[in-house]
Amino acid sequence: MSTDEDPSDDLKVTPPKTWATGVPAVTHALEYSLSQTSPRRTALTLLNINQVKGFDCPGCAWPEPKPGQRHLNEYCENGAKHINDEATSRRITADFFREHSIEDLDDKSDYWLNQQGRLTEPMVKRPGATHYEPIGWDEALSLLANELRALDSPDEALFYVSGRLNNEAAFLLQLFARAYGTNNLPDCSNLCHESSGRGLGQSLGIGKGSVSLDDIHHSDLIFVVGQNPGTNHPRMLSSLEETKRNGGQIVAVNTLPEAGLMRFKHPQKARGVIGRGTPIADQFVHIRAGGDLALFQALNKLLLEAEDAAPGTVLDHAWIDTHSTGFHEFAEHARTISWSDILTATGLTREEIEQVHERVLASRSAIVCWAMGVTQHKHGVATIREIVNFLMLRGNIGKPGAGVCPVRGHSNVQGDRTMGVWEQMPQSFLDALGREFGFTAPAHHGYDAVRGIRAMLDGDAKVFLGVAGNFVRASPDSAATERAMRGCRLTAHISTKLNRSHTVCGETALILPTLGRSDRDVQAGGEQFVTVEDSMSDVHASRGKLPPASPWLLSEVAIIARLARRTLGATPDIPWEQFEGDYGTVRDRIARVVPGFDNFNERVSRPGGFHLPNPVNHGTFRTPTGKATFTCNAFEMPLVPEGHLLLQSLRSHDQWNTVPYSLNDRYRGVLGARRVVMVNPEDLAELGIADRDQVDLVSVWHDGVERRAKNFTVVSYPASRGSAAAYYPETNVLVPLDSVADASNCPTSKGVVVRLEPAAVTA
Ligand code: SF4
Repeated sequence: MSTDEDPSDDLKVTPPKTWATGVPAVTHALEYSLSQTSPRRTALTLLNINQVKGFDCPGCAWPEPKPGQRHLNEYCENGAKHINDEATSRRITADFFREHSIEDLDDKSDYWLNQQGRLTEPMVKRPGATHYEPIGWDEALSLLANELRALDSPDEALFYVSGRLNNEAAFLLQLFARAYGTNNLPDCSNLCHESSGRGLGQSLGIGKGSVSLDDIHHSDLIFVVGQNPGTNHPRMLSSLEETKRNGGQIVAVNTLPEAGLMRFKHPQKARGVIGRGTPIADQFVHIRAGGDLALFQALNKLLLEAEDAAPGTVLDHAWIDTHSTGFHEFAEHARTISWSDILTATGLTREEIEQVHERVLASRSAIVCWAMGVTQHKHGVATIREIVNFLMLRGNIGKPGAGVCPVRGHSNVQGDRTMGVWEQMPQSFLDALGREFGFTAPAHHGYDAVRGIRAMLDGDAKVFLGVAGNFVRASPDSAATERAMRGCRLTAHISTKLNRSHTVCGETALILPTLGRSDRDVQAGGEQFVTVEDSMSDVHASRGKLPPASPWLLSEVAIIARLARRTLGATPDIPWEQFEGDYGTVRDRIARVVPGFDNFNERVSRPGGFHLPNPVNHGTFRTPTGKATFTCNAFEMPLVPEGHLLLQSLRSHDQWNTVPYSLNDRYRGVLGARRVVMVNPEDLAELGIADRDQVDLVSVWHDGVERRAKNFTVVSYPASRGSAAAYYPETNVLVPLDSVADASNCPTSKGVVVRLEPAAVTA
């Protein structure tokens, strides 16, 4: 593939912004929306997004306020761009594929591919062909079903799910995969928040967040760690503003001084339009990449010492004694960690850490929010367990204004897991599924995303079905992932728009175009709605409003149900046809299989849906001991040889997951180009590299394979010392497939050791 250089690169650098949103966000959202579709469709999408009778924003999983408390414009810049990117009036027809060979398309940038518009009819690439050609739905699904049936074992197929998929389709997909005979259900969560699920599961017994929007609004102290809400979950800034207005404090822990963490101008409030907005972070902790574990270990050590100095005044002994195990071992371990290690790992001064500690002591409640800056490190799981230790010391679990808050990116990534999309669902779920549908679900674990790539490379997986998303670009080690996909007998993608996963494909390849979140969905039983679960476990309905992008689109539910019928033949206990015609019948079955979904149809019909209670808030911990667990986490920091930097991949502001909407990163002041690497000026001086030098990024890993991202422009930037930052997915090529977080197998995309070499070719 040839996205090494973008012909439209025209780099301009301006000072990073010190505030986020305000009027420019509205202008940019409208500009992009109107570049995609008509004013009428733009108005229709914006009036319906995140409204009770409208559709859920596919942009991220941040929750909406309760019905009655929502604005008429309940969306952010990125949500508006994303929904109108989906609602675009541009169309890709069969003529487009006649004109462009697959090789041509593979030469185009991700930006170009996305800009071509909505896919409109099923397409096939036959073995040896250079182009995709049209294919009818019946033939396409039979072709895929025949390939699945021809495999030696169901475990030679992978069923990948991205977090856009709604609950009903996700439930049917995992039902189909398990009735077919495999647990190979890798998902995008394997690549991003897997460490959260694992760490929270071990400490608290459930891999989900425990807080509500009300908790956020009324917390005394919120940590925002390794997360950039201004770009990735922008409406979180309105919530943090409310925290501040209620007297709460915010500590931002990040390697970069992100604009949204500094100051927020609410675009719907006079103070945000004409005023200076609201300062967000009371303290910005400019930490080294990978230093979060050491920071929380330091805070825990300080809390224990403060308790020693004034017994009974710092720790919540009642909570610890009633709800937890392992406190004494943990406390003994925490005291042994040395300050010199802590200061090296964090790059902070002891005074800075003590200042944070003072804020903790002054608070009655605390929440820790985090995202991939925490999870995508080798010690991501350990960091999350240490965060839970920190919260438990002062009883900050299960009380108002307190708890854990992993902030998810994909709109229904949490719901897909709840519906059973996981390669290692517990036996109790598999038993319930088998009982309900009259079969025995396979018990052995399936492949996650990284193991799935390895299986394709080794020839152990031969058919890949991707439902939503862009697996090729979202996955680490791009060269290895591309080899893996090209080695498959068949790859198929259920998609709304063209992306790299269609151009890097197997011997046979299928594009199966589907409805978007904003498209009306009419089936035999009438107009349907789907449901989603947000980051705070609220489950609600989503109803598309626009005429579908083409008369040949099928919904994801319909595609999965029809494929299942063709693959499995007669399944008297699984009424696929009925499921396709009436999604309410799917929800009736979900209610009987998935805990917490009793009376699903009735409860989700209420305005705003319903909340799935988190048992930890009621003192129930589903751990082996029935209690929350203090853990001893070995001190760890990334080892970076001299002359090297620790690279994190990140999104630009004008980007949604793997999809760039432009070449600009407005808040960071990097405009017109994406092949840039941001490095602290003092590190540049030490490395003998100048601002705007052209370099190749070369990652260092012990397998001897050279992973090189070519032709990057160096931008002197206030990144923390020793860190570098460059855009995803361009830098995925640098993340070795085997470089994963301990215990979660999540790629370490925020901690890649790289050296900068003069570029062989200047861009
Ligand atoms: S915060 Fe997330 S869910 Fe809300 S409008 Fe923005 S992108 Fe969409």
